[in-house]
Amino acid sequence: MTQPQHIILMGAPGAGKSTQSRLLKARYPLHVLATGQMLRDEVTKRSALGLLAEAYFETGALLPDDVMIAVVTERLIRLAPNQGFLLDGFPRTVPQAEALDKLLQRLARPISAVIALSLDDKQVVQRLGGRRMCEGLGEPFPLHIDDKASVDACLRLGGRIVTRPDDEPEVIVERLRMYEAETAPLIDYYRRAGLLHTISAEGTPEEVQAAIVQILEQTSNPPVTG
Ligand code: AMP
Repeated sequence: MTQPQHIILMGAPGAGKSTQSRLLKARYPLHVLATGQMLRDEVTKRSALGLLAEAYFETGALLPDDVMIAVVTERLIRLAPNQGFLLDGFPRTVPQAEALDKLLQRLARPISAVIALSLDDKQVVQRLGGRRMCEGLGEPFPLHIDDKASVDACLRLGGRIVTRPDDEPEVIVERLRMYEAETAPLIDYYRRAGLLHTISAEGTPEEVQAAIVQILEQTSNPPVTG
C-alpha cells in the first residue's frame, strides 16, 4: 500500500470480521478500530460507557447512534493524518454511515474501500453457536469450539476459553435480526457510492484474507488509464 487506506469491513456477526482485521493489522500499518471489542474492553474496565454497553449486550441490541458516533469521532480525529485505518463494526446503521461521511469529508480522508464479507444465514448461526473467545493472551481472539488444535493451543499457552455473553442462542437471534434490519441496508448505501466490494466469507481465513488483500492492492494502486 502506498498511501494511507481508509477501509470499512462489514459483514453479519460471525462472518469473520475480527479474524480478518487481525490478519490485516499484522500485514499493513493500519489502525484497527473495532467498536465491539472496544466496548467489551470498556465493560471490563467498568467505565460509564462499559456499563451502558453491557445492558445492550444482554439483549443483542445496538447502542444508540449518537453514542457510537461520538466514540468513533473522538478516536478518528486523534489519528495522525498519514495513519490509515480500518473500521470493524462501524458504521452499523444508515445514520452512522451518514455521520461518518460528514466526518471523513471534514478530515479530508475519503473512504478507500468497503469490504462486505458475505455468508449465508445457516453458516452464520453455525459459526456463532460454536464461537468462543481465547482470553488472557493479549488481545482476545475468536476460535471455534470444534477447532481442537486452536482450543488446545489457547489453553496450553495459559489462555482461557470463554463464550461471549452475546453469543448465547437467544441473543444471536436478536443480533441477526438487528443486522438484517439496520446494517444490511448499508450494502446498498455503499454500492451506490461505488465503494462496495463483496467477498464470500466461506473459505478459510487465509483464503478470505487473500481476496481482501487483492482488493486493497487494487484500490491503493489503481490501474493507470488513458
Ligand atoms: P461486535 O463485536 O462487532 O459483534 O459488536 C458487539 C456488540 O457491540 C453489538 O452487538 C452491539 O451491541 C455493539 N456495537 C458494536 N458496534 C456498534 C455500532 N457501530 N453501533 C451500535 N452498536 C454497536
